[in-house]
Amino acid sequence: MRTPLIAGNWKMNGSRALLEAFAETFTAEALPEGVKAALIVPFPYLDAAQRTLETTPLALGAQTLNVEVSGAHTGEVSAPMLNEFGVRYVLVGHSERRALYGDSDEMILGRVNTALGHDLTPILCVGETLEEREADRTMTVVLAQVDAVFDALDAAARERVVIAYEPVWAIGTGRTASPEQAQEVMAGIRAHLSRHGARLGESLVLLYGGSMNAANAAELLAKPDIDGGLVGGASLKTDDFLTICQSAG
Ligand code: PEP
Repeated sequence: MRTPLIAGNWKMNGSRALLEAFAETFTAEALPEGVKAALIVPFPYLDAAQRTLETTPLALGAQTLNVEVSGAHTGEVSAPMLNEFGVRYVLVGHSERRALYGDSDEMILGRVNTALGHDLTPILCVGETLEEREADRTMTVVLAQVDAVFDALDAAARERVVIAYEPVWAIGTGRTASPEQAQEVMAGIRAHLSRHGARLGESLVLLYGGSMNAANAAELLAKPDIDGGLVGGASLKTDDFLTICQSAG
């Protein structure tokens, strides 16, 4: 039985005031039974978020981490630092980091290993561009991104990674993959990873990301291989994010 997870990625947005608003909206009873939710906030807000969200059911996430644990890496943040702020999840390989900040498959694998070594759950983001989809290369691209990490992990580590399928053309564009399009790719990821063992195929938590919102979440989350969501824009609105979380119940 897989536990649904809704993770809100604030990207380079948000404020202390928004954290307060989330604390007011997400009372202890806000989430349906058995649904997990997390807010993935920019680094400077982790300290305030840890305190402000303490009484809520929201877990804390970070948007990236360095592969090293300390040293001469100006501007970077390490896994032990994230541990100090109670961070539970960390995004790895988000398409914006792949495209804008040079995160390669090799770097992504390093970050996943560092996260796992420090008791953090990596959310590995994969997805095709519009050009790749139109060239009928979606599964080739997505499975290559998955294999670059999963082929290098041992069985125990594989079971600790969450995968977010995020078609690049759907992120921040208002253009959502149809539930059928998302389901097709996500079923393909699950089937592909089952070759590492039926148990992994059954237990793997798969999130959909790409313009998920309060209006389309229920339909997407009703698909059998969509266990949750990675939500960007709609995670900046407390009521919308709550509606999405409630759709997962
Ligand atoms: C994201 O940032 O991972 C994302 C899916 O963004 P949006 O929901 O805004 O498309």
